[in-house]
Amino acid sequence: MADDRAERIAGFIAPLRVKPGSKVRLDRDFDPRYKAGLKKQEGIELLRTGVSLLAEYQERLAAQDTFGVLLCLQALDAGGKDGTIRHVMSGVNPQGVSVSSFKVPSSEELDHDYLWRYARRLPGRGEIGIFNRSHYEEVLVVRVHPEVLARQKLPGEQCGPDLWERRYREINRWERYLTDNGFKVVKIFLNLSKEEQRTRFLKRIDLPEKNWKFSAADVRERRHWDEYQEAFSEMLSATSTKWAPWYVVPADRKWFARICAAAVLAHTLMDIAPRFPDVGEEARKELLVTRRELAQEAPAGVPADPYTAGHPPAGRSGGRSGGRRKKERKGRKGRKGKKGKRG
Ligand code: AMP
Ligand code: MG
Repeated sequence: MADDRAERIAGFIAPLRVKPGSKVRLDRDFDPRYKAGLKKQEGIELLRTGVSLLAEYQERLAAQDTFGVLLCLQALDAGGKDGTIRHVMSGVNPQGVSVSSFKVPSSEELDHDYLWRYARRLPGRGEIGIFNRSHYEEVLVVRVHPEVLARQKLPGEQCGPDLWERRYREINRWERYLTDNGFKVVKIFLNLSKEEQRTRFLKRIDLPEKNWKFSAADVRERRHWDEYQEAFSEMLSATSTKWAPWYVVPADRKWFARICAAAVLAHTLMDIAPRFPDVGEEARKELLVTRRELAQEAPAGVPADPYTAGHPPAGRSGGRSGGRRKKERKGRKGRKGKKGKRG
């Protein structure tokens, strides 16, 4: 069924997608301050729409239990990963989402191949998995810091000059494998400017309740800014694929970054187009038998089916039971939506 929301979202995120096979440079091709001509208030409204759309589609994804979604979030420090996850996922059922954060690898993790720890945290069918940092650190921080690579205990011949090309290739194939098996992979890079990072670091120092977020190591990483920009540009060029595209999200305005992230995730879900499973003719017949039995148990003076009594079908009645089911579902959703809206 055509859904014009899907088309609008696709149009909104198209300029953010890294075209597979293209060679991009962050400084030349992407503006961290871009906001698609939106005002903040409009943005907040849009985010609200996006969040309820995500809730709707996540429910279907879980019910269908066939596909899973992996969203990888990458950014430099203070890029807004945590806040993006908090806002974008604020409306979805926590039972259908898993968030995994990846930090400096443990000695157990270093004792395995580099994708091992990420593979262990993949979402199941019906789930949305979010990677807060991801396997892409393996071509970012590991590339910028040779001493981090040294800790990975690779056999000597593996460390040659083609190491990064090989990792890009392995990552692309791994993501292809996941996609072929029903797990959609989508990747967001929150693109922050150096000046905005400086401002956010200062805020973390100035506000006592933000101090815990600040680490001197973050400022040390900032000294490698140019090397990171280079590593990000190469990574985006090499690993944005048809099956697992990268989106470069302008991150200097937090509110805009959040709408973009919600839109990218919504687009991914709408593309899967998950549907509530139909239990089938036989099971439906059995349900109707059970329904009759339950109706007969009604105490005196109580409607045989209090649910239908409270929800008389709108318009014409006596249609096919499937039609009524759809209407009932809609009714339930509508109520939930209203209740869920915060004032
Ligand atoms: P944070 O996300 O601020 O808690 O920081 C996590 C830290 O873990 C960052 O400094 C990352 O660079 C680091 N990190 C994440 N993945 C890896 C990895 N594979 N190897 C080395 N360091 C990593
Ligand atoms: Mg940090």
